[in-house]
Amino acid sequence: MEALHASLLALQELDDEIAGAEARLEEFEPKQAELAAPVLAFTQEVEAARTRLQELRQDVARLERAVEQNRTRLQHYEERLMRVRNAREEAAARTEMDLVRRALEGDRAELQQQGEQATRTDLKLDELERQLARLRAEAGPQHERLAAERQEVADTLAVLRDRRENQAIRLDAASRRLYERVRKGRARRVLAPLTDEGACGSCFNVLPLQEQADVRRGRSLLRCEACGVILYVA
Ligand SMILES: [Zn+2]
Repeated sequence: MEALHASLLALQELDDEIAGAEARLEEFEPKQAELAAPVLAFTQEVEAARTRLQELRQDVARLERAVEQNRTRLQHYEERLMRVRNAREEAAARTEMDLVRRALEGDRAELQQQGEQATRTDLKLDELERQLARLRAEAGPQHERLAAERQEVADTLAVLRDRRENQAIRLDAASRRLYERVRKGRARRVLAPLTDEGACGSCFNVLPLQEQADVRRGRSLLRCEACGVILYVA
């Protein structure tokens, strides 16, 4: 029975170490998210500027085509003006030309505006990209350090789980089932020593004398009636 208790205690020790490693591993998530937040926000800003620039450039290309088309049309009307045969035809051609000229002026003004907007956005994008690169460079070493630390804890955890499994398969099936059941229960400990006064070492409930004697004799795995831990003699 003492060997069994020792095996169970070793298992409990490993489970405590595993729980500790799991808790440490969970702490990395918010730390890494916090570190990544400004870079992420900036990346979104850079993406937005890039999209805006692309839209503006498409706009500029569209306006350039419109200007070119109206310029050709204007030329066409000017040629026609030279061939008019009467005042009515001339008036009609001039009316058309005025319309095209007005459209041309409107497009040119818009082209200039959108062109300036595109240049400003382009310059802003440059600046944003520089800032993003700086942010990334600043966060880089800390990010790498955190990733390395996290990996270390994950490796430790994997080793511990492996050792735990090796420890658990050495137990007989009934003892293992009992251990797992108590572990899943409400008590934080699976095993606790019986104190010299005959109390449970976890909840300090004093056991009836007969049960104290049974634990001391160690014939089977006995549990505290109050908190459910498996009692052993230290
Ligand atoms: Zn107890």
